[in-house]
Amino acid sequence: MSKPTPEVCRNGAISILRKLREAGHETYFAGGCVRDRLLSGSPVEYDIATNATPEDIKKVFPKARSVGEAFGVMLVRRNDVMYDVATFRSDGPYSDHRHPDAVQFSDAKHDAQRRDFTINGMFEDPIKETIIDYVDGQADIDARLIRAIGNPQDRIEEDHLRMLRAVRFAARFSFAIESETADAIRQKSEKLIGVSKERIGEEVKKMLLDEQRGVAAWELQYLGLDRFILGEPSCMNAPTRLGRLFNVTSYATALAAWLIDRHSNQCDEQSIANKWRDQLLLSNKVFEELKETLAIHKKLFDWDQLGTAAQKRIAASPVCDAAMTILHAEDSALFVHIRKAIIEHEKTGLAPGRLINGHDLLDAGLRPSPKLGDVLEAVYDAQLEGSISNRNDALRLAKAIYTEITDTQ
Ligand code: ATP
Ligand code: MG
Repeated sequence: MSKPTPEVCRNGAISILRKLREAGHETYFAGGCVRDRLLSGSPVEYDIATNATPEDIKKVFPKARSVGEAFGVMLVRRNDVMYDVATFRSDGPYSDHRHPDAVQFSDAKHDAQRRDFTINGMFEDPIKETIIDYVDGQADIDARLIRAIGNPQDRIEEDHLRMLRAVRFAARFSFAIESETADAIRQKSEKLIGVSKERIGEEVKKMLLDEQRGVAAWELQYLGLDRFILGEPSCMNAPTRLGRLFNVTSYATALAAWLIDRHSNQCDEQSIANKWRDQLLLSNKVFEELKETLAIHKKLFDWDQLGTAAQKRIAASPVCDAAMTILHAEDSALFVHIRKAIIEHEKTGLAPGRLINGHDLLDAGLRPSPKLGDVLEAVYDAQLEGSISNRNDALRLAKAIYTEITDTQ
C-alpha cells in the first residue's frame, strides 16, 4: 500500500475533528503535528485531543478501537490512516518514572501542561486556523529552544526518558536545549540506569537514523548521557565520522561510525560492539552488520599490504560501501585510492561464480576432510587474482594444494 500523502492525512484528521465538534466536543490537533506545521513541515501523523471521553468517542465513531482506555486514547481510522484520538487529561504522580499512576480527564490547559516540552505542548484549531498555546511553545519555536514545560527537575524526575527525548528533538530541529532544562538533564543523567534498555535503544535508534545524528551524539556526550546509554566512560571526541554520513544511512553503519569516533580504531572494537549490543538491545541483524562493518573498515587501512584476492573479497562484502563511507569521513585520500582500485577490480569481477565446488573435489578423488574448505578458498583466491580461469586449471590447482597440505601434516 502506498504511503498516504500529507494532504490525505490532514484531511482525514480534519474530518474526525469536525465530527467530534458536531457532537458538541471541544477538539483540536495536538502535540507533534502542531509543532511540525509551525516548523513548515508536512505532518503525516496527527494526534487529536478532545474533551470527549472514550465512551463519547465510541458514540461518534462506533468502530474506534481502544489502545489505552486508562489513558483515554482511542484509535480512529479514516481513509486507511489511523489517528490517535485522546481525551484531555492530567497525569497523576509517576512512581515508576515512566507512567503516571493514574490519569484524570480534564481540560485542554491541563492536557498541555502534562506534555513534555513547550514545542510539543500546543494545540491547533484547523478550522479557525489558530494555535492554542498555554505553554509559550510558539516563543520557543521562534527562539529555537527545547524547554521543559514547568519545572524541568520535576518533569525529568517524573519520566527519565524525557532526557533522551529532549536530545532527539534538539538534534532533529537543530534547536538548543534551554539552560535550566539542560542543567536538569546533566544532574539527572545517572537516572537513565533505571530506564529499560528497550526504551533507550529505541530512542538511540531514532536519533541515529535521523540526518542530524552527529548533533544528537554530540549533545548526548555533552550532557553526559552517553555514559549511561552505552555503559562506558563519557567521551568528548567529536563524532565527526558519524556527522558526515549520508542522510539515509543504516542504523548499523551509524553505530559503527560513532563507535569508531569514540574509540578511534582501538583494537578491541569487537568487544565494544558486544557491549553496545547488550546496552542497546541490538537485533542480531544489526549486530552482525555492525561487527562486519567494523572488521572491513579496519582492513581498509592495510589495503596496500593485501593481495588482489583479499582486496576483491573486501570490495564484494555487503558492508564495503558502509565502511568506505566512514573512511571517506576520516581519510579522503585513502578513500579515493581504494575507490580507484575497486573500480579496476570490478573490470575482472569482484565476486565471480566459483570455478569448482566441493562435489568437484570429491568427484576428482580427494578424500572428504575439513581441509577441503581451505582448498576451495585457496583456489578461489587464485581465481580472483586471475591466475586461473577455467575448471581444469582449478582442479589441477586444487589437487596440488591438497597434496601440499596433506604432505606437510
Ligand atoms: P514524533 O514526530 O517523533 O512522533 P511527537 O511529538 O509526535 O514526535 P510522540 O512520541 O509521538 O512525539 O508523542 C506525541 C505527543 O505526546 C508529544 O508531542 C508530546 O506532547 C506528548 N508526549 C509524548 N511522550 C511524552 C512523554 N514521555 N512525556 C510527556 N509528554 C509526552
Ligand atoms: Mg508522534
